Amino acid sequence: MYPPKFDYHRASSVEEAIALRKEHDGKFMAGGHSLIPVMKLRLADPGCIVDIGRIDALRGVCPDGATVKIGALTTHASVHASDELPDALPEAAGWIGDPMVRNRGTVGGNVAHADPSSDLPTVLTALGATMKIAGDGGSREVAAADFFTGLFETAMGEDELLTEVSVPAKAAGTGTAYSKLFNPASRYAIVGAAVSVTMSNGTCSSATVAIGGLTPNAKRCGSVEAALAGKEMSEANIEAAANAVAADLGDDILSDIHASADYRKKMASVFVKRAITKAVGRA
Ligand SMILES: Cc1cc2nc3c(=O)[nH]c(=O)nc-3n(C[C@H](O)[C@H](O)[C@H](O)COP(=O)(O)OP(=O)(O)OC[C@H]3O[C@@H](n4cnc5c(N)ncnc54)[C@H](O)[C@@H]3O)c2cc1C
Repeated sequence: MYPPKFDYHRASSVEEAIALRKEHDGKFMAGGHSLIPVMKLRLADPGCIVDIGRIDALRGVCPDGATVKIGALTTHASVHASDELPDALPEAAGWIGDPMVRNRGTVGGNVAHADPSSDLPTVLTALGATMKIAGDGGSREVAAADFFTGLFETAMGEDELLTEVSVPAKAAGTGTAYSKLFNPASRYAIVGAAVSVTMSNGTCSSATVAIGGLTPNAKRCGSVEAALAGKEMSEANIEAAANAVAADLGDDILSDIHASADYRKKMASVFVKRAITKAVGRA
């Protein structure tokens, strides 16, 4: 299938990309692994593409004190290969699609597209990531928990460009993990659960948990987090906390040819339990 016709401009800097997009009312393209498929399906017809894929300043994983910065153009393969990042991120990146998708697809494109079945929104929400966004009038930062606002929707405007995502650096006593039930053909998440847990003297002192794949956007799981805090991480306590996810899901559960809403709901606690167990083991 061919995409509709479009004009093509290649930007060599963030400023040029923003100006070109505005001038031609275009759409940014990073790896093209979500944009081109939706154009081929005639779900998007931007008329003009502004290729940001060669802005080298937006590429790479860079430790910076208590945080690690990930340039928006960093590929999933580079994230998977990084030993600087909290375990959940390389783990999730290694389970994205296939080698071609991981070598072309980017962190920025993944989160800007905000596909409910994507993995990185869930992991970045659990890690408490911060998104750096550039626009005409300068740049601003948005917490991951406020960034994903709905089905294919984010807090970014059409004229804004995501430049960087920063996550807390690995810390002693804290373990992170991601578990997903995936579509065997595409590897997109049917249910994905991400956890960051901090242990102290054998008990969980704090935890952040997020769920995705079955809800329109990645969500923090406050009930699971509350059920974990202050508890010994026995199997029974982990299971009880994972079961609390039912209260965090809300009423809008996705259902499609791959899995019914009911099945996804049942799988949510299973994958939250697996993610907590792995994270505790790593803490
Ligand atoms: C076969 C297949 C399997 C896949 N499996 C998975 C999977 O298992 N898990 C998963 O998470 N994902 C999966 N994906 C999606 C993949 O991760 C894509 O790479 C990713 O979603 C988009 O990244 P991209 O760089 O290709 O973005 P593009 O396709 O270039 O862009 C996507 C959208 O984001 C916008 N955009 C891109 N970069 C920026 C930026 N820096 N600032 C603002 N807007 C921007 C574009 O305008 C466009 O609207 C799969 C894709 C394919 C084709």
